[in-house]
Parts: sequence; structure tokens; C-alpha cells
Amino acid sequence: MKSGSLYIIATPIGNLEDITFRAVNILKEVNLIACEDTRVTKILLDKYEVKNELFSLNAQSENHKLGFLIDRILKGENCALVSDAGTPTISDPGVRLVNEAIKNNIEVIGIPGANAAILALSISGLPTDAFIYEGFLPQKKGRQKKIKQLAEEDRTIVLYESTYRIEKLLNELNEYMPERYVVVQRELTKKFEESWRGYPIDLISDIPNKITKGEFVIIIAPKNWI
Ligand code: SAM
Repeated sequence: MKSGSLYIIATPIGNLEDITFRAVNILKEVNLIACEDTRVTKILLDKYEVKNELFSLNAQSENHKLGFLIDRILKGENCALVSDAGTPTISDPGVRLVNEAIKNNIEVIGIPGANAAILALSISGLPTDAFIYEGFLPQKKGRQKKIKQLAEEDRTIVLYESTYRIEKLLNELNEYMPERYVVVQRELTKKFEESWRGYPIDLISDIPNKITKGEFVIIIAPKNWI
């Protein structure tokens, strides 16, 4: 029996219009859609009138649920993977599923679209010819060590950070790399999209008034960037 395919589909990071025609068509055509939070994905599917079976697969459940998906694909069904926002597997679940699919000779097809890191980088004005994506820094153990390492990095650095730790991160940047120019992008593609630019000390002074809520990408200029 010919097995089906696994589609890794990028979805919007805020503005629901940021999805491709191809992505919507495939979401309609596959046999089932694996997603992180069915409530989040349903909002997108309702907008595009996609009526399809949803299957929840998140970081906690990926290991024990991926066998079910692989079995269905091997039996000939096509499956899509989406995450709550952006490109699946990028600081999101799905890597193990992709790996297992490859091991089982299942065709894995990527459908490109939104990704917060690349969007933020593209409007940062900082060098993009070579950059390093670190995603989320460790929350506790190893965090300081990683920041000290990054202070020596001579490529542009791209980080993700949550509302809860953005203030802490800016203070850490001020401590370990005060001379580095930083761009903070908040709520990309959403109503309250904003960006701040400057040295860590300048950005810290904005925190109490402005940087309080939302999702953030932080771009740090390479060492010795003028
Ligand atoms: N897979 C996603 C992608 O392709 O960008 C990333 C998922 S990760 C769990 C979520 C983090 O991405 C947020 O905490 C934030 O750092 C960043 N992010 C996602 N959407 C964003 C947005 N609209 N504006 C700024 N940052 C965003």
C-alpha cells in the first residue's frame, strides 16, 4: 500500500490573512490535521471554511501520540502538522514527528509561510548575511553561561522571549553586552505591532511604560557592528 504524506504547514503569527492559498488548499485536502491547541487552530480553520479532523499534538504528548499519526500515514492517509503560530518545529513541537516520518520513508513536504524570527530579522536593519537563531534562552540553568557565550558572537543574534522575562533579558544584555545595538519587535503583524531600537540601557528605560505585554523577538547586532 502506498503511504500518504506529511505536510508541515506554516500558519499566521497574528494576522490571520498571512497564510498562503496553497496552505489553505492542503489543509482542506488532507485526511487529518495535527495541531498544538485545537481551539487556536479552529479559529484559523473557521475563517477559511476548512472542515477537517483535528488531532492534538503538543510538546508533552508528541512522543506517545506520534505513533498514531505515523500509522495512519503509512495506511495511506495524508496528514498536516500546524502549530499555534508560525512555522511548526521552529521553537515548536514536531521535530520528533518529522524524524519518525523520515525513518518510515514517508514523504515530508514543507509549506512555507510566517516565521517570527525571519520577519523580525528582515525589518531589523541589522546584518542578515550571517545570523544565529537561539530561540528561547534557558530559563534558569545555563542562562547566564549562554548569554556570556553570545556576548562573543560576531553574527547577528535572534532570540525569542516571553512577556514575563523580557525585562530580565534586557537587564542581562545591559550587564553582559551593553555596547551591542538591540532591536526589540513586539506583536508582529498584530494590532499593537511596535519596535524599539537602541542600546540595552535605552530600552530598559522604556520598559515600565511601553514594553509590558505581548510576544517578542529580540535581534542583537554582531559584535563590533557600527
Ligand atoms: N513557530 C513560531 C515561529 O515560526 O515563529 C514560534 C513559536 S514560539 C512557541 C513563540 C514565540 O515566537 C513567542 O514567544 C515570541 O517570542 C515569538 N513570536 C511568535 N509570534 C510573534 C509575533 N507576532 N510577534 C513577535 N514575536 C512572536
